[in-house]
Amino acid sequence: MTHADPTPRKLSTLLQEGSAAVGRLEARILLQLATGYTHAELIARDHHEVTSEQLTHYTSLLGRRKQGEPIAYIVGTREFHGLNLCVGPAVLIPRPDTETLVDLAIDWLASKAAPSILDLGTGSGAIALALAKAYPHARITAIDASTAALNMAKHNGQQLGLDVEWLHGNWFEPVAARRFDLIVSNPPYIAAADPHLTQGDVAHEPLSALVSGHDGLDDLRHIIQLAPEHLTPNGAIMLEHGYDQATSVCQLLAQTGFNNVGSTPDLTGILRVSHGQLAS
Ligand code: GLN
Repeated sequence: MTHADPTPRKLSTLLQEGSAAVGRLEARILLQLATGYTHAELIARDHHEVTSEQLTHYTSLLGRRKQGEPIAYIVGTREFHGLNLCVGPAVLIPRPDTETLVDLAIDWLASKAAPSILDLGTGSGAIALALAKAYPHARITAIDASTAALNMAKHNGQQLGLDVEWLHGNWFEPVAARRFDLIVSNPPYIAAADPHLTQGDVAHEPLSALVSGHDGLDDLRHIIQLAPEHLTPNGAIMLEHGYDQATSVCQLLAQTGFNNVGSTPDLTGILRVSHGQLAS
């Protein structure tokens, strides 16, 4: 490369060009990843030139993002409820919606000394780990049917130094004769024919973590039906679901014998989590 080389190499120029393609925030994140600089270093070195390796790396990262690959998969991490979690194509990217479920569980657990908690379909481990962080005295079990997802969840647990019992299997199968004080889950809940499945980040996420039958309720029905066999007296269940499923999920909970059935909105005001409690 000579001085006549027209390829832009200044950090500021690269940031500007990237911003036009993917927005300033994401361009900055990708430039940090390509250069290894922190945000502060990037600002301080505004007029510095990058090496050709850094330029190639940045161009390739930008290309992947422009193809629609989720930024969380490119970077390999996503922040959830104050925890930095590793994520990849084997797991759903943790959403702020799911923090509503975690907050609700934290409130409910506040009065319990050493509760046992079951997280069904843990994926990256987001819910189980956020609860483990909030309640170090809780005994937490998390299940996933995907070995790749479970390995990522275990890795996250190790990285964060949080203790969770990770089990492989389909919903309640690995805990056949066991009962818990609280069952939480963000199961797949999108209808098989939903056009959103081909749009945005969702198009790159594992279908098995998203789709659940013709109305999106197959897994929620299954979990609710079996939950009473796996709850202690007064035990509770909290389930995330789709924007239009609160009524159906509450009906299912009531039909199955749950009391205090209700729904809680997420930060955007959508009823996102429904819950119920078993009688003693
Ligand atoms: N909340 C996700 C979405 O709509 C779906 C997650 C799920 O199916 N559990 O993008």
